[in-house]
Amino acid sequence: METSSDQIDVAQNLQQVKILMDQALKKAERPAHGVTLVAVSKFHDATRIRPALEKGQRTFGENRVQEAQEKWPPLRTDFPDVQVHLIGPLQTNKVKQAVATFDVIESVDREKLARALAREFVAQGRSLPVFLQINTGEEPQKAGVLPAAADDFIKLCRDDLGLNVQGLMCIPPATEEPAMHFALLSKIAARNNIKALSMGMSGDFATAIELGATHVRIGTAIFGQR
Ligand SMILES: *Cc1c(COP(=O)(O)O)cnc(C)c1O
Repeated sequence: METSSDQIDVAQNLQQVKILMDQALKKAERPAHGVTLVAVSKFHDATRIRPALEKGQRTFGENRVQEAQEKWPPLRTDFPDVQVHLIGPLQTNKVKQAVATFDVIESVDREKLARALAREFVAQGRSLPVFLQINTGEEPQKAGVLPAAADDFIKLCRDDLGLNVQGLMCIPPATEEPAMHFALLSKIAARNNIKALSMGMSGDFATAIELGATHVRIGTAIFGQR
């Protein structure tokens, strides 16, 4: 897979990633094409993104509201069925723009944000599917609710706030084996009857798929280094 800064062949990288995804599914004895590829296009411009769109890729991940606001409207004109996921931290003062800009919010990581989103979905008459971010590694600097608080947070979001909780999301600690974090996320989802699991990035998506990921967020392996 070519990931140096020049000569990135996005179309070829995309195809290669899909082959590896299918291999992981097969190994796990899961049905083919059972995972949504969220192509993480943060920091890359439209020129780099277009080849993926032309190859049929329709789900993308961005981590900044303003960047997505600037980048995606022209691309949506040409590819109206794209789905852009917010995968990065969201400040409550940007909730309004985020709800107008994205199709899915994957990074619902605290009560204050969940409440602000619930209000904004009503205000805009636009209720987006959300993922709740769990800080599986209990890292102080990382966003997400702690595993021990996950069940209560899920209940709050789903039952009290009426959010459309599609799934859970995690970003394992960079220095640890990701498998135990993926397994923990899967366990929390199962006991709360949540179906979707957004886990796995360029370095560990095969492991994530073997442990039940329904969404993988892959940037570098497709678009090259940022
Ligand atoms: C940037 C990012 C990714 C993609 O990471 P790669 O290692 O480039 O595949 C996935 N998830 C989140 C939350 C990110 O911020």
